[in-house]
Amino acid sequence: MLPFKLIYSDAYYLPIGEHVFPAEKYRRIRDRLLATGVAEVGDFLEPEPATDQDILLVHTPEYVHKLKTGTLSPREQMELEIPYSQELVDAFWLAAGGSILAARQALADGIAISIGGGFHHAFPDHGEGFCMIHDVAVAIRRMQRDGKIRTAMTVDCDVHQGNGTAAIFSAKHAQGNPLPSASGSPVATQGPRRKNPNAGDVFTISLHQHNNYPLWKPPSSIDIDLPDGIGDDDYLAWLDNALSSGLRQFEPDLICYIAGADPYREDQLGGLALTIEGLKQRDELVFRVARARDIPVMVTFAGGYARHVEDTVTIHCNTVIAAKEVFGLAVSS
Ligand SMILES: [Zn+2]
Repeated sequence: MLPFKLIYSDAYYLPIGEHVFPAEKYRRIRDRLLATGVAEVGDFLEPEPATDQDILLVHTPEYVHKLKTGTLSPREQMELEIPYSQELVDAFWLAAGGSILAARQALADGIAISIGGGFHHAFPDHGEGFCMIHDVAVAIRRMQRDGKIRTAMTVDCDVHQGNGTAAIFSAKHAQGNPLPSASGSPVATQGPRRKNPNAGDVFTISLHQHNNYPLWKPPSSIDIDLPDGIGDDDYLAWLDNALSSGLRQFEPDLICYIAGADPYREDQLGGLALTIEGLKQRDELVFRVARARDIPVMVTFAGGYARHVEDTVTIHCNTVIAAKEVFGLAVSS
């Protein structure tokens, strides 16, 4: 048995047909974890869908109404970049429920992993970039509402910037004047772009490729805008730097790790050059830092568009293996 739970449902599958997003990856990850003996059937917990009340902790009533009644405008449907259906709405409500369960389990066991979720491009009033509902934000707000946490930190390692996350958690500070991305300059030499001692109750860290979607990147608490083609060593150094900086500024009750597989060098929608082994080291780094400080971590998987879907499955399975290696060790004191 794993020393933590994996959150999964067959209904995580996104009914989007032939698409660059490999909707079948969730089931394949589960099957691989079982087939290789990394996990047992008893390690998995099946989530319930989030309630509308949970979703409304983050999203506007108008947007939720449009989703539930199928009345998104053509433009809104286009921005989503996945075909709207009632079944898709159900899958996103379930993903949010999965993240709520992962957060709850993380607080109990130190870590929990949802074999899904990480839809970090969803905004309160609209969806975009394959993300209809911001499952991680819903989980954070629900934990706060239940009095289980006061603060949280998102650590977003998907290759695309977490624009929805940044917008949701900086909303109360927004002045209508977001910082521009560090375009046109050697961004990797700048260090964390923005320190925000008044980050509110959720501190957001995003490491992402600068020259990639989303074009407009609302400011996170720390944005690391990486140049094209960054490899393992540089990436890991920047991640280490961002985590140290973030945890000097902020004390989270929960870390929400968004473990996108798309910084991989064979990714179709990414332009970084991490190896499969480098991505596992990335996961280990996040887990070691969290465990050393005794901060619970909930994990979601977000993007992953490798030319060979098996690579995406391997990268996500390695996140579970990394967690097993870091959290399976006895605490040395
Ligand atoms: Zn991505």
